[in-house]
Amino acid sequence: MLLEEMTYEEVKKYFEDGNDMVILPCGSTEQHGCHMVLGTDFHIAKEFAKRISERTGILVAPTVNYGYTEYHKNSFPGTIGFDQDLLYDVYYSVSKQLVNLGAKKIIFMNGHGGNSYVLKRVSMNLRIEFGVMGLILDWWNIAGQIKPEWEELGHAGKPETAAMMYLFPQYVHKDKIRFEGFKTLADGVETRGSATFGYKGINYGIWLNTIDVTGTCGNYGEDPKLATLKMGHDSVEAVIDNIVDFIKNGFSKMKID
Ligand SMILES: [Zn+2]
Repeated sequence: MLLEEMTYEEVKKYFEDGNDMVILPCGSTEQHGCHMVLGTDFHIAKEFAKRISERTGILVAPTVNYGYTEYHKNSFPGTIGFDQDLLYDVYYSVSKQLVNLGAKKIIFMNGHGGNSYVLKRVSMNLRIEFGVMGLILDWWNIAGQIKPEWEELGHAGKPETAAMMYLFPQYVHKDKIRFEGFKTLADGVETRGSATFGYKGINYGIWLNTIDVTGTCGNYGEDPKLATLKMGHDSVEAVIDNIVDFIKNGFSKMKID
């Protein structure tokens, strides 16, 4: 149930009928290695939202296609984003208008890790100012909770490539995968992908293009060539199952004063 495909009378009726939840897909326009399209994150966020809506009847607001992606910009053309303050204003302004329509619970279906920092601030302030619950769903984290192998800690790696093979095979060019591992900046300091270094429990992030020449930085160096359609199917469906289960049996029943 996409708002952009409904009339205003249908939207009015949705809230008059007592529905108080809305899903806002949060995407990003950014490089995804040599083998996936720049819209990967917003396609995934919107598709998850659509599939959740089909099983719960929750209204889906139009996707925010730009996110916070400053760290992908330097060497990878086509990456376009908002700075964090602007992104906050976009999420918060859209949320306020959804609240005015009748939303009391807003589900942020997130497709991109850089958005999470901003969404946490949005969610907290919606709670403080309007008593609204903002649920942030980072699909890759949920996937990793179900099965560690499915967690896309980086970007354009095995799990995200698998998810795209299942949801949007037309946007995955497996023959173009270029993954050359990561540069080491100091002996004994492990480069783990996702612009992250690790040393005895200390993790440190750094600009992506200084460690990764192709933009493929997923999951602790796991090659996206290992992605399979079955993995994409199983991980995406398991994540959606868990989200739908939580919405039906948990989130929809939760009350705050
Ligand atoms: Zn992505």
